[in-house]
Amino acid sequence: MELVDPFGRTVRDLRISVTDRCNFRCTYCMPEEGMVWLDRTELLTFEEIHRLATIFVKRFEVDGIRLTGGEPTVRAHLPVLVEKLAKLRVPDSASSPRRGKPIDLALTTNGATLRLVAHELKAAGLSRINISLDTLQHQKFIEITRRDHLKNVLDGISAAVQAGFAPVKINAVIQRGVNDDEILALASFGREKQIEVRFIEFMPLDAQDQWQRNDVVGQDEIVATINNVYTLEQVLARGAAPAKSWRYLDGNGTVGVVPSVTKPFCGDCDRVRLTAEGQFRTCLFSTTEFDLRAMLRGGANDDAIAIEIQRAVGTKWAGHAIGNVTFVRPKRSMSQIGG
Ligand code: SAM
Ligand code: SF4
Repeated sequence: MELVDPFGRTVRDLRISVTDRCNFRCTYCMPEEGMVWLDRTELLTFEEIHRLATIFVKRFEVDGIRLTGGEPTVRAHLPVLVEKLAKLRVPDSASSPRRGKPIDLALTTNGATLRLVAHELKAAGLSRINISLDTLQHQKFIEITRRDHLKNVLDGISAAVQAGFAPVKINAVIQRGVNDDEILALASFGREKQIEVRFIEFMPLDAQDQWQRNDVVGQDEIVATINNVYTLEQVLARGAAPAKSWRYLDGNGTVGVVPSVTKPFCGDCDRVRLTAEGQFRTCLFSTTEFDLRAMLRGGANDDAIAIEIQRAVGTKWAGHAIGNVTFVRPKRSMSQIGG
C-alpha cells in the first residue's frame, strides 16, 4: 500500500539521519561552539532503524533511502547499517519501477573521511553518494567549514569514483558574498571529473538563525552564470527529484540546482524524514514531529507504528512558504533534522 498525503503526493523517499554529530562546523548549518549533542542512548540503534526502514519499504513501498546527518560517517560501524538496509527489496506488488529490486540506497557526506570508508561502503551495498563541497579554495574552505579538510574531501571524491559509485554527485551551497564567485569554478570541476555538481540554494536552517533572503543566490543566476561560458539546455523530465538538471551542450555531462527558496518544488515532494533520535517529520520545515522511538521502545507492534506513520503523512502540508509572512522557521537546524 502506498503512503499518499492529503495533496495526492506519494511518499517514495525516506531520509534517515544516523547522527546529529559532525566533524565540520559549516557556518550555514552549525555554530562554531556550543552544539549540544544527543546522548548515545537517544540515537536509534541500527536494529531500530532497520525495523522502521522495513515498515516503510515493505508496507508503504518506499523505494529509496538516503542516510544523512549530522555527518553520517562519524557514526561508528556505518557500513554495518548499510549492509542491513541494502538487503531491503521493494515488494513485487509495488507500482515503483524498482519493484522486486533492492532499494536505492544513498548517502550524503561531507567527504572528510570518505577516502577511508568508500570501498567498504560500496562493498556493503551502498549505491550512490553525494559529497558536499562549497569551494575549491583552501582558505575559504576553512572559513566555511571551520575545519582544514579540503584535501581530504577531494581525496574522498576520488575514492568514491574509484570505488565505483555511480553516480557520485557534489552538493554546493551557494551564499552571496561567500562563494558566489566560485559557481563557474565548481561547475568546471564537475565537468572535468565527470561528476554532476548540484548547486543548493541557501535555506533558513542555519543554527545561528542568520539567514537572510539577500544571502540566497537563486537558480536563475546560477544557471545564467554557467550558461555564459558553457551553453546549457534544461533536461525536462524531473519527477520528484529536488534538483532541476541542465545538460552541457558540448556533451560534458549535467549540472543541477536545488531551488528550494526561489522555485520551491513542494508540489512534487515525495520525501519524509527520520531524525537521529527517531522523530518522524514530513517536511524539512515541519514544526511537528511524531515520536516513533517512543513507540519502538514502548513495545508497539509494526501495525501500530504503520498507523502512526500514516497519521503523520496525513498532516503533511502543501509547502514550506519560505519568504511569506506565514513562514515559521523550525526550531531545529539542518544538522539536527538531517539534510
Ligand atoms: N554532513 C553531511 C554533508 O554535509 O553532506 C550530511 C548532512 S548535511 C546537513 C546535508 C546537506 O545539507 C549538505 O549538502 C549541506 O551542504 C546542506 N545544508 C546544510 N545547511 C544548509 C542550509 N542552511 N541551506 C542549504 N543547504 C544546507
Ligand atoms: Fe556538518 Fe554537513 Fe552541517 Fe557541514 S552541512 S556542519 S558537514 S552536518
